[in-house]
Amino acid sequence: MEFNRQSRRHGGVFWRLFFALVSLSAIAIAVLTWLFSNAYEDLLWRHVRDTLRATAAASGELLAEQWPGQPSPILQANVAAAADRASVRLTLISSDGRVLADSGQESVGPVRQMENHGNRPEIVAALRSGEGSARRPSPTLAERLLYVAVRVGDEQRPLGVVRAAAPLAPIEAEIIGVRRWLYAISALLAVASAAIAYWIARRVADPVRELSEAARALVGGEYGRRLAIAVPSHADADEVAAAAVALHDIGKRLARSERQLRNTSQTQATILDCMTESVIAVDSSEHILFANAAAGRSLGFDPARVNGRTLLEAIRSHELRDLLRQAIAGRKPARGELTSRVKPPGVFDVLATPLAGDPPAGVVLVLRDISELKRLERMRQQFIANVSHELKTPLSSIRAYAETLRNGAASDPVHGPRFLERIDEQAGRLEELILDMLNLARIEAGQTPLKLVDVPLAGFVKRCIADFETQAAAKQISISVAVEDALAVHADEKALRQVLGNLVDNAVKYTPAGGRVAIRACRDGERVLLEVEDTGPGIPPAHHARLFERFYRVDNARSRQLGGTGLGLAIVKHLTQAMGGSVALESQVGVGSVFMICLPAGKLPPSG
Ligand code: ADP
Repeated sequence: MEFNRQSRRHGGVFWRLFFALVSLSAIAIAVLTWLFSNAYEDLLWRHVRDTLRATAAASGELLAEQWPGQPSPILQANVAAAADRASVRLTLISSDGRVLADSGQESVGPVRQMENHGNRPEIVAALRSGEGSARRPSPTLAERLLYVAVRVGDEQRPLGVVRAAAPLAPIEAEIIGVRRWLYAISALLAVASAAIAYWIARRVADPVRELSEAARALVGGEYGRRLAIAVPSHADADEVAAAAVALHDIGKRLARSERQLRNTSQTQATILDCMTESVIAVDSSEHILFANAAAGRSLGFDPARVNGRTLLEAIRSHELRDLLRQAIAGRKPARGELTSRVKPPGVFDVLATPLAGDPPAGVVLVLRDISELKRLERMRQQFIANVSHELKTPLSSIRAYAETLRNGAASDPVHGPRFLERIDEQAGRLEELILDMLNLARIEAGQTPLKLVDVPLAGFVKRCIADFETQAAAKQISISVAVEDALAVHADEKALRQVLGNLVDNAVKYTPAGGRVAIRACRDGERVLLEVEDTGPGIPPAHHARLFERFYRVDNARSRQLGGTGLGLAIVKHLTQAMGGSVALESQVGVGSVFMICLPAGKLPPSG
């Protein structure tokens, strides 16, 4: 189990290094053991041989003066004693090979029986060169011996040979013993060197493994991993430590870059999501890469779910797809318009800009909602048509009357003045229309400076309706006022006069003879509610929503006949709103209408 864990932990570098070190040390130990064992063996043999040579040589020197010719008991005893002292076997051999004495024999008797030693290799060598040695079994003693023979006398007249011999068995036993020790020490050394190799391999491989794991962690996006490698602060840090420092720095830089990148992309995403324009990025194969929140809202999809889908799948607009292809094919921005039918429907100005690359890597589509612009454009056209129409009618009348006058009616005492009166009437109508339009334009452009003051309402309303008394009396219309004395509004006096004037004018104008007009005002919290009620024809509910638009009339012919411009209620609405108020209408066909103005309440100046 432990081995498995370790082998999983250590990588290739460790095992390669470990085996290399172990093999190296094993070879070194084997060679050293072999050399030492051989040297020791040589030394031992040389020592034994030297000892034997010295003993033989010393004995030879002693006997050189009176070299025995024959074996004798005295000689045998002396040789045996000398051999015993030197712990060797001594043999005296005559130059013709006869054995003269041998410490290996009990007495002189067996010596005489001994075979001729003249052909023994060590004797042959000694007689020839002064010294000879051999390692072989002794035929006499039946054991293996090391023989060293030394010649006595010179080469021309040799007296004989003294031979010293020692048994091989103890020497070989010692050699075997020493070898055993050597092998045991070698084994210990091998174990120790394996441990050292393991330690060295770990010291080298562990940091390398750490580095590779840290590098792998970097690849996996784990930038904050701390390296366990001890990094010396001084300049002579080794390569691994330097690599660790570099890797650590890379990690820190990568983390910083990733943080910056994340911040930037978050900022960009936030900006893109806050944009009112829809932004869609599409790759060259028309798959959506990104879409912002506005795009999802305008085109009816979930921006988080469209990534990877094709533009046509997500938006189902062939116009948009064609524009995208046009931008890619033309390698330049393409512009177009898109009408979206999703809720709420809208019109978009689309700019398709190809991304860099040839062919372009994709396209960025920016959609600007121009529905409001289109509506305003439509309104403008409608307004021009309305204005032209409004101006055309009185002008046509003026031209017709002028034509009639020129054709002779001018001298007609009855029709002449009547036609001139009509011309004046139509010119007055034109003037009124133009003044109303100018007025409205000024209010809308904010060019009518409003001076908001606290206006006491009771007196103001009375003064205002005084202008309509003649008109009302002519139609037998009664105008009643019910305004509390203690009521004031915060408003511009001139504007309020125009608002109230327009409403009362309409009420008197559209109420049939004998009807009633009532003006009421009451407080409603912080506001004042001013109502103009009439018993006129009433206005069908279908017209309520558009009644305050310019030139909107319920009954065109009747309005014109009564001298209306179609702008009165539009002026009422704009002025009231400019003063911080609102308008409303309640009406029932055949019963009458109530126009309600709600304005901020004002304070009355202290009376007295
Ligand atoms: P006009 O100059 O035609 O009166 P206004 O903007 O003042 O233009 O009014 C718009 C239309 O609203 C009128 O043409 C008329 O049809 C209708 N209207 C306004 N006031 C009343 C009312 N008190 N009773 C019935 N209809 C009214």
